Amino acid sequence: MSTSTKSISSVYGPVPSWRVGQSLGIDLICETSVCSFNCAYCQLGSIQIITNQRKLFISTEKVIQDFKESDWKKSDIITYSGSGEPTLATNLGDVARKIRKITEIPQLVLTNGTQLNNPEVISDLRHVQRVYVKLDAASEKVFQRVNRPVDGVTLANIVQWTKDFKKRYSGFLGIQIMFLPMNRSEVEGISEILQEIGPDEVQLNTPTRPYPRSWHIASRGGHSEELRPYESVPLRAVTLEDAEEIERALREKTGLKILSVYQKK
Ligand code: SF4
Repeated sequence: MSTSTKSISSVYGPVPSWRVGQSLGIDLICETSVCSFNCAYCQLGSIQIITNQRKLFISTEKVIQDFKESDWKKSDIITYSGSGEPTLATNLGDVARKIRKITEIPQLVLTNGTQLNNPEVISDLRHVQRVYVKLDAASEKVFQRVNRPVDGVTLANIVQWTKDFKKRYSGFLGIQIMFLPMNRSEVEGISEILQEIGPDEVQLNTPTRPYPRSWHIASRGGHSEELRPYESVPLRAVTLEDAEEIERALREKTGLKILSVYQKK
């Protein structure tokens, strides 16, 4: 851990989430943004370290201490997200197991699925009750444009690994889809992939936060405009009409439970 992260808490919030209520965030990375994707819409801005190598970023002891000092009792769910891809942290399972000893508040991992073929990660995820996997494309071309993954990662691999994971995981598996104008044409293909995976729930989103010009620790919590201490540029979202059409099409084609960020408006 670098000296600069000693004063930064690895636990933030709780912050309200349209999907899961009051969400307490756990950031197992903290010191910079680290991910195996560099999504065109990432709320962290352009990812600073693009890698699919796991490592220890913050000690388990510090995370548990930060957790104990946080407002965790006010949360409905504990979410591993923060400054990048949480499955890249080698202590994910260790932290989840230790938090489970403190509270039965459900724990959730938001992941891009690039580590779902790793037996150690699969083992870590057994300690959390929910896993939400990102799926923003149905073709490799759009996948490369929207998610801009590290070299060697393909959409076909992630879809296969997610299908395999669904068969082995006893918790709740959600799929999160971010719709932008650039992947609007993928609805048909995405519906086919969803039917193959068979998740418990599908969540549709569109960018509601601007794209930061550079990484800032505050961006992990999705601050409102007046509290946002960094420069950012707005992103193009899909329109309400488009979002409703996508939602209806996916529901009709898949028969799955579909939630949409627009439903709350
Ligand atoms: S997977 Fe998540 S953290 Fe990684 S670049 Fe995409 S939105 Fe950002």
